[in-house]
Amino acid sequence: MIVAIDGPAGSGKSSVARRIAKERQLTLLDTGAMYRAITWECLQEGIDPTDESAVGRLADQAHIDFGTAADGSQTVALNGTDVTQQIRTPQVDQNVSAVSAIHEVRKAMVELQRQMGAQGDVIAEGRDIGTTVFPNADVKIFLTASPEARAFRRTAQREGMDAAIQADAQVNAREQEKILQDLIRRDQLDSSRAESPLRQAEDAHHIDSSDLTFDQVVSQIEALMDEVTNA
Ligand code: C5P
Repeated sequence: MIVAIDGPAGSGKSSVARRIAKERQLTLLDTGAMYRAITWECLQEGIDPTDESAVGRLADQAHIDFGTAADGSQTVALNGTDVTQQIRTPQVDQNVSAVSAIHEVRKAMVELQRQMGAQGDVIAEGRDIGTTVFPNADVKIFLTASPEARAFRRTAQREGMDAAIQADAQVNAREQEKILQDLIRRDQLDSSRAESPLRQAEDAHHIDSSDLTFDQVVSQIEALMDEVTNA
């Protein structure tokens, strides 16, 4: 089974996909981590994230591997270097939308994602999974939440908590405001780019998670998966 979860930054895609992957023994494919890894490499190498040919070359040569840490969390390696922590910095947040709008980057990443999904039994999350990467996915979800709810969850995540699970997490208000502004800016860039913009596939189920608990979102998606399995 292939499950596609798309939606804007902070909508809860990662936590939900991680839980479902574990419960249903699916391979987890965090496509945002791949665009982040390329962005991190650009910053390391001093390459301008808007320099299409230089960034494209870098993406073409990239080897990205997902692994599992001792605590069960997912790790990301780029060309053999573990970049799991480095790809979650504000600097990467600020530059990733420019990098992911480059045609060569998308071409290289989509090809890698299809290779990783070729064996089936995958839950992939990103912006263009249902529209471009796996248009024939068995279940497609478009997961959204209000910008405020998303900023709260992302801030909690940065502070080492999982607000999808700890709904009453205490977070730094100034940090949350900065993250809110970054999310709004990224949503705008990701939704308005020419290639594979963030949008809901016609056959995707829209779930607004603003007022739902984490478990409710997981159950709704698993119920849709069961419908497919039992059809
Ligand atoms: O999901 P996450 O916030 O980690 O994604 C980081 C960025 O990667 C997004 O803001 C977007 O620019 C890009 N992205 C994308 N297509 C995907 C996944 C992520 O363009 N399938």
